[in-house]
Amino acid sequence: MFNNSAKYSQMIKNEALRLGFMACGISKAEFLEEEAPRLENWLNNNHHGEMSYMANHFDKRLDPRLLVDGAKSVVSLTLNYFTDEKQSDINVPKISKYAYGTDYHTVIKEKLKELLVFINDNIGEVAGRCFVDSAPVMDKVWAQKSGLGWRGKNSNLISKDAGSFFFLAELIIDLDLEYDQPFVADHCGTCTRCIDACPTDAIMAPYVVDGSKCISYLTIELKNEIPTEFKGKMENWMFGCDICQDVCPWNRFATPHTEPAFTPALELLKLNKTELIEMTDEVFNQVFKGSAVKRTKFAGLKRNIDFLKEY
Ligand code: SF4
Ligand code: SF4
Repeated sequence: MFNNSAKYSQMIKNEALRLGFMACGISKAEFLEEEAPRLENWLNNNHHGEMSYMANHFDKRLDPRLLVDGAKSVVSLTLNYFTDEKQSDINVPKISKYAYGTDYHTVIKEKLKELLVFINDNIGEVAGRCFVDSAPVMDKVWAQKSGLGWRGKNSNLISKDAGSFFFLAELIIDLDLEYDQPFVADHCGTCTRCIDACPTDAIMAPYVVDGSKCISYLTIELKNEIPTEFKGKMENWMFGCDICQDVCPWNRFATPHTEPAFTPALELLKLNKTELIEMTDEVFNQVFKGSAVKRTKFAGLKRNIDFLKEY
């Protein structure tokens, strides 16, 4: 019988690009055998800090067939968020580039749903689920397995063509497809720029990031006070941190995204220090309307700003 899987894979990849995704790779949905001891070790060392969701669903995290009934394929997608635009006042506490525009969860979920509709309309009845940071899916592992890039020493997925300023998302479906070859090369070489530049020493060793020391975790995930050991080390980041990506030589290949929803709100870029320090709940809701920054809530952002102010 003629095997259509190659044709279907190509159709899905073409549609993904049409929807604005930057790249698409496909892997067989199977148990991530090599990843199991690595994840166990990372969790045992408590590198996930208070991110208890990382420790939950250990089995599901390693096997997509436990997440989606009858799963056959993991379709990995990347969406560029790089921008040249910057907050205009260099003294204002910084926000990671990924949070400049509309919350990526909303934008990507919509595109994934459209891709699933396309598959159902053009290939046949296919069941599946869309994932953006929202469930136990090891997105970087799947992306590497699908040939989209390698895991850098800063643990980000890096593409030779585009650097690392992109989101990862997955569609897990019950359709057999043609699978891509994993990306096996490591193009970090002898570079250690990310390790050297990390202000909190969160990159403990090449490829090992202690999430509980990372500024992204401290400013977004951590619910309690930021430990005083990080005083003077936050480099003025109030939401996330881009340092280990900004210094990565592969990001010279990053080009600005073309996603209108990620266009930064002018109010956000123009924010000055006084406005930020005197910000009320109401202004916060206005400036960060629809933005991922709302994840910290007003109190969380205030805590971060106060911490930076204090030290
Ligand atoms: S995001 Fe910032 S704090 Fe986290 S590992 Fe990278 S440089 Fe270090
Ligand atoms: S900065 Fe250097 S070591 Fe770090 S991820 Fe980029 S290439 Fe790899």
